[in-house]
Amino acid sequence: MTMKTDTLLVHAGEPRPRSGGAVAMPIYQSSTFEETEGLGYHDIRYARLSNTPSHDSLHAKLAALEGAEAALATASGMASISAALFSVLRTGDHLLAQDGLYGGTHDLITHDLPRLGIEHTLVPGDDPAAWERALTPRTRAFYLESMTNPLVRVADLPAAASFARSRGLVAIIDNTFATPLGFQPLRRGFDIVVHSATKYLNGHSDLIAGALMGPLERVRSAKRTLDHLGGSLDPHACFLLQRGLKTLAVRFRQQCATSLALAQFLEKHPAVARVNHPGLLSHPQHARARELFAFFGAMLSFELRGGAAAAGQMFARLTLPLHAPSLGGPETLVTRPAASSHVGLSPEERARMGISDGLVRVSTGLEAAEDLIEDFGRALA
Ligand SMILES: *Cc1c(COP(=O)(O)O)cnc(C)c1O
Repeated sequence: MTMKTDTLLVHAGEPRPRSGGAVAMPIYQSSTFEETEGLGYHDIRYARLSNTPSHDSLHAKLAALEGAEAALATASGMASISAALFSVLRTGDHLLAQDGLYGGTHDLITHDLPRLGIEHTLVPGDDPAAWERALTPRTRAFYLESMTNPLVRVADLPAAASFARSRGLVAIIDNTFATPLGFQPLRRGFDIVVHSATKYLNGHSDLIAGALMGPLERVRSAKRTLDHLGGSLDPHACFLLQRGLKTLAVRFRQQCATSLALAQFLEKHPAVARVNHPGLLSHPQHARARELFAFFGAMLSFELRGGAAAAGQMFARLTLPLHAPSLGGPETLVTRPAASSHVGLSPEERARMGISDGLVRVSTGLEAAEDLIEDFGRALA
C-alpha cells in the first residue's frame, strides 16, 4: 500500500509495537548504550554516531517522506549540506553549483571548498548550454535548490537531474523551500536531498536541525563524514523534530494558501512594483512550478516603489509579522535581503541578481490570511 505523505508524516518510523506502549516516541536521552556481546566496534551505540532509538525512528520517518532508502538527521541544515558535499567531493574535484544559493551554502562552496582543493563553477539554473560549457573532466557533482531565495526562482530541475545522470555527476538538491509535500527530488532523478529541518520540517521556530535523504550507500557515506565532523542531532532535538513533522501537511497547506492570497493582494497594491511568487501568472517560471510542484510554497518577495525607506516604514507599521531571518515557522517573518542575507554583496552584484534595496521577503506563517492581508494593507497605506 502506498500511503500519502500526510499519513507517512504521522505513522512512518513510529515503532510497532510502541516503545513501552507510548503513543509518542519517547526521548532516549542517553549518550551511550550497553554493549551487546559479539558485536563489533561499528555496532557501538553512541549519540554522536546518530544511532540511538530516537535517531532510528526519526530517520525512518524522514526517509519515508522523500521516498528514500535511508535518511540522516543532522544538527543543522548546514551540517547536512557539508556532510553531503564532503562525502561526495575530494581534492581535485570540480563542482557545478546553481547561482543564487542559500548564503551559507554559497560561502561553503566559494570559501571553504577551494581551501581543500575543490573547485566550482556557478551556473544559471536553467541554461543547459552553460552547464555543458562549465563541465570539466574533474566535475563530480551538480548542486541546486528546489526554489531560490529571495526571488523564488525555479530551476529546470528535471533537465539538471538528467544532465547529471548522463555526465556521471552526483545530483544534490536542497529541498527546504518546496518540502517533500511539494516536490520529491529522488523520484525525479536526484541522488541526494538535503533539508534545513529548522524551517518547514520542524516548523515551530524553536529548533536548528537538518536532514539528508538518498540511497543507502550515499547516506552511509554521508553518515561516516558526519560522525567525524560531529554535527549529529541531540536525542531531545530528534524528539522535537519528530513531533513537528507530524503536523507538516496541515501547516504547509495553510501556509501555501495564505502566501498565494497575500501575493495576489500585494500584486494589486499601488505601493508595490513587483511580486515574486511561483503561484502568480506573472512569475517567469509559473508554468514549470505548476508542472513540478504540488504546492507553490509559502515564500514570496516583493519590491516597494519607495525603496528601502518605504520598506523601513512598512516594517515599523506591521503589527503581526516579525522582522527576523529564517522561515517556515508559525509566525510570519519579514526581511529586507539587501540588508540581511545579501548584505555581503556589492550593490552592483545585488542589482545583477535582481535584488533591489526595496525588496522585502515574506515567510508566510499560520495567522489567518484575512488578518495578515489587513495588516499589510494598513502598513502600506
Ligand atoms: C536555512 C537554510 C539553510 C541552512 O539551514 P540551517 O538549519 O540554518 O543550518 C540551507 N538551505 C536553505 C534553503 C535554507 O533556507
